[in-house]
Parts: sequence; structure tokens; C-alpha cells
Amino acid sequence: MFLEVYCSGPALTNCILLACMQTHKGAIIDAPADSGDQLFKRIEELELDIEMLLLTHSHWDHTAAAASLKEKLNIPVYVHKLDEENLKKPGSDGLPLLIEVPPVEPDHFLEDGQEIKLGELTLKVIHTPGHTPGGVCFYLESENVLISGDTLFKGTIGNLSFPTSVPAKMWDSLKILSLLPPNTRVIPGHGEETTIGKEEWLKEAKKYFGG
Ligand SMILES: [Zn+2]
Ligand SMILES: [Zn+2]
Repeated sequence: MFLEVYCSGPALTNCILLACMQTHKGAIIDAPADSGDQLFKRIEELELDIEMLLLTHSHWDHTAAAASLKEKLNIPVYVHKLDEENLKKPGSDGLPLLIEVPPVEPDHFLEDGQEIKLGELTLKVIHTPGHTPGGVCFYLESENVLISGDTLFKGTIGNLSFPTSVPAKMWDSLKILSLLPPNTRVIPGHGEETTIGKEEWLKEAKKYFGG
């Protein structure tokens, strides 16, 4: 497996390039503003065949480059149905757009439990509503990797005070993540990576947040 993280855009959002190196099939996860140049350089160097753009959720800091990546790489865009509207009409979720965010038409919807094949790799979709209604994580069980979007960060969680946040669902989402093996690497939507084991507080999340 190849996995690299590039941080860009005004909210310092992580863009993830993931690939199966047996087959050179690749995927991009999240599309912050200005992520293109770094991606294109690596895609060319590694001779990757990019098959899809997967979105952890529809906040503009994760989707600003989605339209241009979709067009330049001619790839389908995946998002959870409950985050579809904000992808098609950026800012319709009530979050002010700090930059221009072109609309994107999704090609496929992500569903809880769905398995996405990328060459020899399998990404399992875990629906984790809370930060947004259609937030998802991608779990690569064979590689011990979780791509957690804005659901789980190192030491904290995604903001629950945004207009479409559903705080009541966040604790159930975190509980699912807390049951993954402790040595699971967590690659979040912002900041440094961590592991499930290092985020021990997760198991007690309900107690801390009174949910
Ligand atoms: Zn977000
Ligand atoms: Zn974000």
C-alpha cells in the first residue's frame, strides 16, 4: 500500500493519496483547495491509475478542488447521500465559504458497510454521522489504517456546532471507532496522525460529553 498525506487550503485540510502498488490503482480521499499540484506530481512519478475521488464529508475545505480533480483525472466522485446537497450547492449547509467552491455532481453514494475495491486493497465505509449527517470513515482492515475525516482527530473530535452537525449521533460514531484494534493508524482530516490506542478517551466519550 502507498499512502501519503498532503495538507493544503485555508483550513489546512489533509488530502490523502492512496494506492495499491501491486496494481498501481489509486484513489484520492478529500480534495482541499490547491491539492492538485502535489497530487499530479506523485501520480506521475508513481505511474498511478487514479480510479476515484472519495469524500469523507461535504464541507468546503474538503471539496474545493473536487470539481477540478474530477474533470482533470476523469474520475467518479463518491459521497454519502446525506452530504450530497452541500456538494451540489456549496455553502447550502450554512457554513460561510472563505474561497470559491465550484459545485460537484456526485457519481456514487457511500453507504455504511460498503466495501470499495482498489486493486488488492479493500476500503470499508463506516458511516459516522455527527460532525455532518453524511460523514464517513474509510477503514483498511488489512493495513490497519482508518481515514477518519473530521470525525476523529489526534486528541479531539470534529466541531459539533456547525449548522448541519448532529451532536447526538457523534458518540455512537465514536463508539464504533473505539472498538477498532488499538494499533489502527488514524489519518484525520486535519493535523497529525494518531492511533485508536492512543485515543483512549474514546471509550469514555459518552461520559465526557454527557451524550
Ligand atoms: Zn468538516
Ligand atoms: Zn475539515
